[in-house]
Amino acid sequence: MKCRMCGGKAEVHLRSHNISLCREDFVRFFHRRLLRTVNRFGMFGPGDRILVAVSGGKDSLGLLHALKKLGYDVTGYHLHLGIDGYSDRSLEKVEKFAEREGVEVKVERVGDVLGCTIAEASRRLRRPTCSICGTVKRYLFNRAARDYDVLATGHNLDDEAATLLGNILHWQEGYLGRQGPVLEEEEGFAKKVKPLSFNSEYETAAYAFFEGIDYIVEGCPYARGATSIFYKGVLNRIEEEMPGTKIRFLDGFYSFRRKHIRPPEVSLRPCPECGYPTTGEICNFCKLKARLQSGRATLSPAVRGP
Ligand code: SF4
Ligand code: ZN
Repeated sequence: MKCRMCGGKAEVHLRSHNISLCREDFVRFFHRRLLRTVNRFGMFGPGDRILVAVSGGKDSLGLLHALKKLGYDVTGYHLHLGIDGYSDRSLEKVEKFAEREGVEVKVERVGDVLGCTIAEASRRLRRPTCSICGTVKRYLFNRAARDYDVLATGHNLDDEAATLLGNILHWQEGYLGRQGPVLEEEEGFAKKVKPLSFNSEYETAAYAFFEGIDYIVEGCPYARGATSIFYKGVLNRIEEEMPGTKIRFLDGFYSFRRKHIRPPEVSLRPCPECGYPTTGEICNFCKLKARLQSGRATLSPAVRGP
């Protein structure tokens, strides 16, 4: 197998693009694709300060590494969720990465902010762990991004295509209206972008391998059995038979959305407790904190997520 670009020995074959590439040309290809997504969707420019949320996995660490290499002004942000040994092992990878790459990564611990871990909050409030985690992450990521122009996350093509499939199967109109590679800044919400939306999971794994990024391979224990994993499997089977389907699926949706779907109108006001934008009386995070602080936590019905 020869590299399409230089004729040297190819090390990767990308079925969805029908090309084989050597290591160096693959890395260039990966950067080109990422930059194309950044420019096409107006995510950020050279002078912007970018906060990159890093979990310790290949996608987010790969994104931070690539953006730094491409000359952007980046800072990492890691949220320690307090999940059994998994969170400590993730933090270890992030800290080693930061030291090796010479990049600043800010670390925040959920336990310090909430007074307990995600798992403990879930048990005490009798609410699914991932639902608590979602509320906490959204809130703290947004808060951390206040001093930056934009918050970037490592969602890849497979993540986005699986989310889209789920939203379509269940006709989640509100979510479909908001699903995109960019969520513009609005009334207290930071601008959020997903520069790897058109880089597949296979590509981010190959990129991390070639660039020598040491990342956490195990997934969060609470992700087991998640429907998103099932949807990814279904899409992989389709991709196997029809290479390029995931890209066409997502790309087609973004074009369709631009022409035909309007994001749902929501009226936001600042939470009286913390100032975070909310549609309710107080924001979900403050509700969560209040429930945890009151002794009624284990007796109360579940707090509704956003
Ligand atoms: Fe949080 Fe883990 Fe659930 Fe993801 S799988 S939302 S990291 S608890
Ligand atoms: Zn609040």
